[in-house]
Amino acid sequence: MGDQANPFESLQEQVDDAGAYLDTAPGVLDRLKNPERVLETNLTFELDDGSLETVRAYRSQFNGDRGPYKGGIRYHPGVTRDEVKALSGWMAYKCAVVDVPYGGGKGGIAIDPADYSETELERLTRAFATELRPLIGEDRDIPAPDVNTGQREMNWIKDTYETLENTTAPGVITGKALDSGGSEGRVEATGRSVALAARETFDWLDRDIAGATVAVQGYGNAGSVAAALIDDLGGDVVAVSDSSGGIHDSDGFDPRAVKAHKAETGAVGGYGDAESITNEALLTLDVDLLVPAALENAINGDLAADVRADVIAEAANGPLTPDADEVLVEKDTYVVPDILANAGGVTVSYFEWVQNRQRFYWTEERVNEELERVITEAFEGMVDAYEARDTPNLRTAAYVVAIDRIVDAYGQAGNWP
Ligand code: GLU
Repeated sequence: MGDQANPFESLQEQVDDAGAYLDTAPGVLDRLKNPERVLETNLTFELDDGSLETVRAYRSQFNGDRGPYKGGIRYHPGVTRDEVKALSGWMAYKCAVVDVPYGGGKGGIAIDPADYSETELERLTRAFATELRPLIGEDRDIPAPDVNTGQREMNWIKDTYETLENTTAPGVITGKALDSGGSEGRVEATGRSVALAARETFDWLDRDIAGATVAVQGYGNAGSVAAALIDDLGGDVVAVSDSSGGIHDSDGFDPRAVKAHKAETGAVGGYGDAESITNEALLTLDVDLLVPAALENAINGDLAADVRADVIAEAANGPLTPDADEVLVEKDTYVVPDILANAGGVTVSYFEWVQNRQRFYWTEERVNEELERVITEAFEGMVDAYEARDTPNLRTAAYVVAIDRIVDAYGQAGNWP
């Protein structure tokens, strides 16, 4: 797997690359390369045997020029201060490129949740929510799920916040279960936008996604839903992987059956008669579409040289290093950047928040229609910038669109004397 590129340095490089196509004042561009503030905290919670444990946690509020900070909370041993800072920046640009009225934020706890029981995770999550309480709020900072967190953790955070604040405020967090104020379509939204972005890219390239061969690295919520929906569009999913390895079958899989197999056995490996394949072999397969849906730095410059896919749609945040981007431009590989391809998650989070504020809930059909409109319009905006400004790749075009919007909001607010 990839090198150890520092994700925060990658983010800063991506902003600088786009800055070269804009005449943003250097002081303002600097503002757009650094978070407004970062909370670093140590959470002490009780284990089931009565002992206490202390773990490190973060929340980065990157930019609030366009609205409340917005972004998920991940539980992963690889969480660091720099990773959370990078992820919060990617959220700010993601919200701007799809024109959702939010800034960017991200949080994380440096643990492997598999090491803890459900009751331990509940105590830890409530400890984090208590620590976050002064920073978050329906109009201030709105967390959501990310790697290894989901409805369960969101429901706990909402309940802790509402109990401490003595109010009801479902819009303080998104990605909740339906009965706790969640939205139809939210669970599938990230994978759905990846499939929509892939469809738009193939259309734009005058190619047919029906019959295209597809490899998906990572089979969590984003990867497995993207695989199923790309299959619905006629794509042929021939390889998938998770952290324990991958499977390959040139005749293609039924992605939903692979998901059911993983739910039952804990891994995609061992599905049917498929041959085993390493993650690296999957990433360099000769396919039409590659979907990295795991973690940052999956593809570095060296590996990019061996990538054979024509199109890459980033379901994960930051799966390609800036070195990889450079190599892929040379090879004419089209990369649909994370900040657009996986923006369905935060877009439907926005719809959830709107529904929470109005206490009026939409049908799944309405959610999916509005999501399709947002993603296709954002795709058009990115391609327009790519063609009009002649940027080297779609990522830089997406950043140009996003930076323009954030800088406009910042400029319109005027300078505090
Ligand atoms: N964690 C998701 C992301 O990286 C969703 C964030 C949200 O819904 O606020 O985009």
